Amino acid sequence: MYPDVQLFIDGKWRNAAGNRSIPVLNPATEEVLATVAHASKDDLDEALAAAEKGFAVWKKVSAYDRSKLMRKAADIFRSRNEEVAKLMTLEQGKPLAEAKMEAMAAADIIDWFAEESRRAYGRVIPARGEGIYQLVVKEPVGPVAAFTPWNFPINQVVRKLSAALATGCSIIVKAPEETPASPAALIRAFADAGLPAGVANLVFGVPAEISEYLIPHPVIRKVTFTGSTPIGKHLAALAGAHMKRVTMELGGHAPAIVFDDADLDLAVKTLAGAKFRNAGQVCVSPTRFLIQEKLYAPFVEKFTAAAAALKVGNGMDGDTQMGPLAHERRVPWVEGLVADARQRGAEVHTGGERIGNKGYFYQPTVITGVGRDARMMNEEPFGPLAMIAPFTDLDEVVEEANRLPFGLASYAFTRSAKTANAIAARVESGMMTINHLGLALPEVPFGGMKDSGYGSEGGSEAIEAYLNTKFVSQAGL
Ligand code: NAD
Repeated sequence: MYPDVQLFIDGKWRNAAGNRSIPVLNPATEEVLATVAHASKDDLDEALAAAEKGFAVWKKVSAYDRSKLMRKAADIFRSRNEEVAKLMTLEQGKPLAEAKMEAMAAADIIDWFAEESRRAYGRVIPARGEGIYQLVVKEPVGPVAAFTPWNFPINQVVRKLSAALATGCSIIVKAPEETPASPAALIRAFADAGLPAGVANLVFGVPAEISEYLIPHPVIRKVTFTGSTPIGKHLAALAGAHMKRVTMELGGHAPAIVFDDADLDLAVKTLAGAKFRNAGQVCVSPTRFLIQEKLYAPFVEKFTAAAAALKVGNGMDGDTQMGPLAHERRVPWVEGLVADARQRGAEVHTGGERIGNKGYFYQPTVITGVGRDARMMNEEPFGPLAMIAPFTDLDEVVEEANRLPFGLASYAFTRSAKTANAIAARVESGMMTINHLGLALPEVPFGGMKDSGYGSEGGSEAIEAYLNTKFVSQAGL
């Protein structure tokens, strides 16, 4: 059922030049599922020409008609939810229920951006002289190059694709080679809804080769990337050298802060769910658990029990709650972080080991006594690791929360409005959610500060990033 995945260029599905391809693996079994086409420079040149042509067509389509087509694509994609979710679980490993949720959420995201496309208003500024009209006009920025990772194979594409299409831009998506079939299914829904040829193009290949070629290319006017901070800095520098608009959604190391007056059971349940979703391979995953002294011991006990009770397995099995890591290189990364912490005297309460030797499974892991100098307290684990540490007061926890260069998501639990206000005001993160999980809806901003990047992939800010502002001042004759 898992297909060979082709490139989509100028409205056609096709192999790469010279039929270059690479295998796609199932991370739960290490079996080869199929192949994915590997674009060469010739393929990229065709994608660029198609995107240029597609932009000329799409920018002239009215917002009303763009919106209609996008809603049709959303309906088509929704109707294919079951089959798309299976592709995603096979290629990425996450439990089928999580894959279904991601596919359904994608359709909602398309719908929201479709509606928003009709509201990308300019404005009229009152003039100083009679008969003068000062207009602010919003225009699509142009062809977009989008680079997306494997942790949310559809979600990471759909936000960029929807914002581009909503504003009248064309796009070349460089989707993840590890998880190509589900993003290809997303693009197919738009093609089947009647998107004109060249407006959305899909390529795979060697990520560095593709970004080095596309970003400086004069056809490309905007770059959007989701991935690690080092690669993000590299691509932002490249884009800067060529004066391209940029959105960067990069790594995180989210503090999860639980105050003495919090609802303990709510905090444990909410944070355990968030931590081990997608095996911790989430940029907003809670990572440094900072628990005020009174609740520290019971939190460690209950959180450890919640982690140990999780059923880890193949995402295709109905009772699996956490799947494998998404690809082979994640395993030594997570193992290295745990070995380093152990060497420094940290205590592993549960987990801390790879599971079996087939498939990239790693145990949900809870660790305490991890010094600030340990690698896992400074580098993004991007895996099922929860480090728990106690704190005494607000100043201390704010200092620890802000210690790292990351600033993406943060979490807090407290019954005090005063504490909630203080923590929201003082923690340096692009998103904070208090006493619940409230991130990533299409209508709310999604993005970071500091080394976690800039720009937003949700809310009206996400639309703005794909628009140029033009000022027109017009005097009557
Ligand atoms: P990586 O840094 O090699 O790659 C991260 C992503 O960037 C991948 O999708 C990859 O294809 C892409 N990429 C890498 N080099 C590129 C280049 N020169 N041009 C364009 N794209 C490029 O690491 P990885 O092993 O794939 O993932 C591990 C790290 O990546 C994690 O520690 C995490 O920090 C980060 N990551 C973040 C997110 C996120 O949602 N922000 C998602 C996936 C990975």
